Amino acid sequence: MTDDEIKRAALGALREFYGYKSFYPMQWEAINHVMHGNDCVVLMPTGGGKSLCYQLPAIISDGCAIVVSPLLALMKDQVDALTDIVPAAAINSEQSEQQNRDILDKAFRGIIKLIYISPEKLLSEMDQWSQELRVSLIAIDEAHCISQWGHDFRPEYTQLGALKARFPDVPIMALTATADRLTREDIRKQLHIDDATIFETSFDRPNITLNVVAESVGRKKISQIVRFISRHPGESGIIYCLSRKTTETVAEQLRKLGFNAQAFHAGMPVKHKQAIQRDFINDDVTIICATIAFGMGINKSNVRWVIHYNMPQNIERYYQEIGRAGRDGLPAEALMFYSFGDVVTLQSFARESGQSQVNMEKLHRMQQFCEATVCRRRILLSYFDEHYDHDCQHCDICANPPERIDGTILAQMALSAIMRVKEQEGITMIVDILKGSGKPELTQAGYHLLKTYGVGRNLTFGEWNAYMLQMLQMGLFYVAYEDSNHLKVTDYGKQILRSEKRVQFSKYQRHQLETKTVKKARQSTILSDLLHVDKELFEELRLTRLAIARAQGIAPYLIFSDKVLTVMAQEKPTTFAEFSVMFGVGEIKAKRYWRPFTDTIRRHLE
Ligand code: ADP
Ligand code: ZN
Repeated sequence: MTDDEIKRAALGALREFYGYKSFYPMQWEAINHVMHGNDCVVLMPTGGGKSLCYQLPAIISDGCAIVVSPLLALMKDQVDALTDIVPAAAINSEQSEQQNRDILDKAFRGIIKLIYISPEKLLSEMDQWSQELRVSLIAIDEAHCISQWGHDFRPEYTQLGALKARFPDVPIMALTATADRLTREDIRKQLHIDDATIFETSFDRPNITLNVVAESVGRKKISQIVRFISRHPGESGIIYCLSRKTTETVAEQLRKLGFNAQAFHAGMPVKHKQAIQRDFINDDVTIICATIAFGMGINKSNVRWVIHYNMPQNIERYYQEIGRAGRDGLPAEALMFYSFGDVVTLQSFARESGQSQVNMEKLHRMQQFCEATVCRRRILLSYFDEHYDHDCQHCDICANPPERIDGTILAQMALSAIMRVKEQEGITMIVDILKGSGKPELTQAGYHLLKTYGVGRNLTFGEWNAYMLQMLQMGLFYVAYEDSNHLKVTDYGKQILRSEKRVQFSKYQRHQLETKTVKKARQSTILSDLLHVDKELFEELRLTRLAIARAQGIAPYLIFSDKVLTVMAQEKPTTFAEFSVMFGVGEIKAKRYWRPFTDTIRRHLE
């Protein structure tokens, strides 16, 4: 097919099956690429629209696509989401042999367009499939699980390297929402798709407001939490805790106060966990207090807020967890508490882990994020190697900005010191050079002869350390974990070094943390208020959706997302014709659901 033909087919399917009119950034590029038989890596944040990148090619190609997914729950959710759209199924160990065989049989006959499968199961089926199944493409979801540098390493993923040799003519698409520099290199290497093109969108999630609160002594976290969730009445949210015990006590306290909350952790019986997960997905439970064991299998698009009761162990994890909020693109809120106690606990975890050095360093970055005086979003995005050279206005730092100074000259001093030691030193040595400290290691290396030696004498060590940290957080340089934590200047840093850009620092204050004030709460964060939609109608539509979901035994957000409901509450379609051309309403869904929703709207209008 030519590009034009592919585009026509893909846009047609996007409209017909999903009810969307245009692609999200990079979707078309990735789709076109695999349709031409090429491998690629798709890096998009949660909610960026990764699923469509492989579902659309699967729909418009002959044969069947294989989708590798790490978790049963995740597969189930994806398959449920597709039931109103296109024939898909999962092969797994929970189904009987017969069920699995029936599914395979349908796939061999070309009836099923997408098969979801776990990596270990795929490896055992691979030989037969490579001969008998017409495979249109192989999609590897949560591809970061393949990398030891990542935070979700799964040994069974590493064997997926065998796929390329077994299916040499089938395009491979690896997808993930978390990939730092090392992980993304690793994905290509381990899958043996070294020439794969990387399609990457911004990792920014502008709809999520970021807040971090230092745990204040004497002030109860729970009362702050209650105030926060009271601003989100009836809206789904997750509270992440470090220990199983905490999940239970927090859930208990919230229930006593009348909130619909449940605990969830790895120590609970499987059946019980599944029930809670289902209730949350189905909007029967509003709040989940969970350890990290919760959430990976959850694609629920209408999670409106995430609270971290404790600080997470690294930025990847934090970003992944807050990313569970607002997948539908509507406003969502994240709140994190952190304390010295959390840091101590996490340090012991990190020390005991297999990769203590890397994990300690990552924890350190997390702690710095909490204590930062720089826009939170800038820190997060530069952590993921993205240039973001302005403040976001949607975080607690931007809401209470610290005093700013022009840091260009200071930055140039530091960056040029890094360059002059050929990017072969860590932060301590660089500060020593700037200060002209005369330490023996420094003179032994001959650094006292450098031009930058002692240029930063006028600042204290404390000031230099604080500013170096800000530079790191704004992405002027990065720490190369794989190279003894040496500092490397980024392109953004080089622009500043060449005076092409200027940079601002927040002014160093010795007691920064104590003087920081907690941001005043916004009046209301209720979705319908924020979006100025008819609140009553929106609620009625939600109830209509809930009733249908109950009857079908699937999750409400799988029928229509909150976003589609808000559009419905604005446009108020009352006929099939109006309903069927709405955003997010594909042909099958239009036929199936137009009556109940237009009835609700008509009743409301009368
Ligand atoms: P990811 O897997 O990257 O987290 P999803 O594939 O779940 O993201 O997509 C997030 C949401 O965005 C879903 O509700 C999906 O239907 C919707 N979506 C995806 N692509 C588009 C598009 N081109 N136009 C409108 N909505 C889209
Ligand atoms: Zn900000």
